[in-house]
Amino acid sequence: MSRFDDISTPRRTKEIISRHGFSFKKSLGQNFLIDQNILYKIVEAAGLDEDKGALEIGPGIGALTEKLAQTAGTVTAIEIDQRLIPILREVLEPYENVKVHHGDVLKVDLHELFQQDFAGVSKVSVVANLPYYVTTPILMKLLEEKLPLENIVVMIQKEVAERMAAAPGSKDYGSLSIAVQYYSEPKLVCIVPHTVFIPQPNVASAVIRLAVREEPPVSVEDEGFFFEVVQASFAQRRKTIANNLKSRFFAGEGRERLEQLLQEAGIVPSRRGETLSIEEYAKLSNVLYNADIR
Ligand code: SAM
Repeated sequence: MSRFDDISTPRRTKEIISRHGFSFKKSLGQNFLIDQNILYKIVEAAGLDEDKGALEIGPGIGALTEKLAQTAGTVTAIEIDQRLIPILREVLEPYENVKVHHGDVLKVDLHELFQQDFAGVSKVSVVANLPYYVTTPILMKLLEEKLPLENIVVMIQKEVAERMAAAPGSKDYGSLSIAVQYYSEPKLVCIVPHTVFIPQPNVASAVIRLAVREEPPVSVEDEGFFFEVVQASFAQRRKTIANNLKSRFFAGEGRERLEQLLQEAGIVPSRRGETLSIEEYAKLSNVLYNADIR
């Protein structure tokens, strides 16, 4: 197949869309990629080869799916929009290693899907140009369900990518940075201009790679409680950590006990949540948990 025949060329994309009478649904985050270089960059960042598998969320008309099919051994794609299913069947017909499922990724049992579609595949990565209206719920589902993933390489809103990769002390650092960094090591791959999509989104985009960790970087007594402490610490960004924790966990108690526990965790009460590292949050949540503050 020559490069000119690729699904993602603007000419071919427009031809497929108009022949099928397809109209874009903004509510489903439908912005299709029409740039070969960006597609190759996304696929390259996932480090795929023919022994590996790729799970694509939201294949659209199959532009990225085609590149994945040419690189990975097994490709599975989940698309919510029924109108795209016949188009995908047509355009991906030459590829025997691709399966397309109709469904909402947030409702699909992904462990079951992995057993069915990736049995015997050594490593699987998620590779997607995500619908921006559900980026965070999709990524948190993939990470929290502890699927056996190698990488997650996704096109997302630039501002969200920057928050995921942010370091302590920066303005973008928050509970999302800590949640993502607990499960993975994020790296910004590239910033992407509006012009590579049809229709063009009205926010800037970026490709990010999350290298999924086999073990979290810190040891916590209780994961749920660790994330509760993190959430509480960022409840009001301008407040100190002591004031945020007081409102959430020490409503009926004196400030003395709170300050004593913060001292035990090695944290000065006047610090703000955005200055604490993930290690400091782990220490703090373990001290509170062991003191029965929950
Ligand atoms: N991968 C294609 C591309 O790059 O050209 C399309 C990407 S487009 C940004 C997002 C795609 O996700 C659309 O095809 C949309 O219908 C689909 N989608 C939206 N919400 C979804 C969901 N909850 N589950 C599965 N697919 C979804």
